[in-house]
Amino acid sequence: MGFFKWVNLFIFLHFFAATPIFSDSTKFLDLAKDPEVFDWMVGIRRKIHENPELGYEEFETSALIRAELDKLGIPYKYPVAITGVVAFIGTKLPPFVAIRADMDALPMQEMVEWEHKSKVPGKMHACGHDAHVAMLLGAAKILREHEKELRGTVVLVFQPAEEGGGGAKKILDAGVLENISAIFGLHVASGIPIGEVASRPGPIFAGSGFFEATINGRGGHAAIPQHSIDPILAASNVIVSLQHIVSREADPLDSQVVTVGKFQGGGAFNVIPDSVTIGGTFRAFSKESFMQLRQRIEQVITGQAAVQRCNATVSFLDEEKPFFPPTVNNGDLHDHFRNVAGSLLGDNKVKDMQPLMGSEDFAFYQEVYPGYIFLLGMENASRERLETPHSPYFKINEDVLSYGAALHASLANSYLLKLNQEAPVVDEKYHDEL
Ligand SMILES: [Zn+2]
Ligand SMILES: [Zn+2]
Repeated sequence: MGFFKWVNLFIFLHFFAATPIFSDSTKFLDLAKDPEVFDWMVGIRRKIHENPELGYEEFETSALIRAELDKLGIPYKYPVAITGVVAFIGTKLPPFVAIRADMDALPMQEMVEWEHKSKVPGKMHACGHDAHVAMLLGAAKILREHEKELRGTVVLVFQPAEEGGGGAKKILDAGVLENISAIFGLHVASGIPIGEVASRPGPIFAGSGFFEATINGRGGHAAIPQHSIDPILAASNVIVSLQHIVSREADPLDSQVVTVGKFQGGGAFNVIPDSVTIGGTFRAFSKESFMQLRQRIEQVITGQAAVQRCNATVSFLDEEKPFFPPTVNNGDLHDHFRNVAGSLLGDNKVKDMQPLMGSEDFAFYQEVYPGYIFLLGMENASRERLETPHSPYFKINEDVLSYGAALHASLANSYLLKLNQEAPVVDEKYHDEL
């Protein structure tokens, strides 16, 4: 055995001796599948599912999270961004690595009939954020039991308002993540088998914005249009012209979308209304393309409305629905993810995926810190097909909770180890705190 092999053996034995559980990623899955952890996560998930709360209103969800953290003896900061909770496990010293879950539900009626159906009419956890919270608490429980073996601090981010409210941005604005070296997130996915994950380096989800425009004409009798200015016809032309932005002005190799999903105006068969309101969303994978779309949407709406003798005002709803930047995965973290998920699930269970036009407010973290998000499969071929997120028939395969908790815990723990190997931490030198 040559010198370097001895050195490698020494390093291996050193970590193996010091971290009997944490040096082996596969153990995380066993820990997360243990009924003591799994059943507990299922209970939490069902409780949250029964009581869904919309963005920035997650008060009871947040209270439930804090009660569990208290029981586990994990310190946290609250409130962060109104309902958010940021907790800390480990040495409470650098390096700091964050893992994140979103907490909010959607304003829609659950159509799934089951024992733990939403008890709040018109609100539903249809995007799996109830499962995300349970998984992050599951990771907290596992990590807390082995806290002494952590080589730094894991920061647990329970974030409000992912569904359009920009909760991630508010968490950043609160200044509680200042010293983190990386942040990891996940999203449950219905089209991917349970036990598999999918992601990619670079852009993975599009940047997303919303617009709303009021097109004002002059109302009157439908039979004598010469005395009116018809905003319905103007709005119709506006919508057709908006479709030409992507088809005629954008690079076909640079994916973009403009969709008008709202058209409100008029209420009678024989009346030309005074005004029409339209609204929609636009998506792109780079900030430049996104800003170009935004500028052109405003020009096309006002210009085309003027052609029809109407006035138009355009709003991008910056306050209520702040635009989400493109979600861009860090390349080095992609390598780390492949290694960790590969050893936990098997290399053939870690898939590459194409970018999606959907958006994620995880992107806000990635604008500031190296960040990485992946999709976590939950489809079970032998059971029924699962509906996609935001469907009123959306269901969670609860077996996914163990995989999410294990991956969260494993990614954070092993990244702390990696950071220590690259730059060993000497306790006295650091006094940084989050
Ligand atoms: Zn969603
Ligand atoms: Zn979601």
